[in-house]
Amino acid sequence: MKYLLWGLVLYLGWRWVTASRKTVSSDAADGQSARSGADAQAAEKMVQCARCGIHLPVSEAVSGNDAQLFCCEAHRNAA
Ligand SMILES: [Zn+2]
Repeated sequence: MKYLLWGLVLYLGWRWVTASRKTVSSDAADGQSARSGADAQAAEKMVQCARCGIHLPVSEAVSGNDAQLFCCEAHRNAA
């Protein structure tokens, strides 16, 4: 009975250690991905729509004739 109790204590201790370790590592991974996402957004080049003049990330811009960039298809067609 004494050994069974010790086994239970060790088992619960091991569960507690692995659970807390898992939480810490997942928190670190979340923080890292959030930081790298913010860095990518900050580093992204901003361009101006040739039609309405709004600023938008280059990845969301629509390119038209003469290497002009627009905020949407409608403004590209209107230009
Ligand atoms: Zn526009």
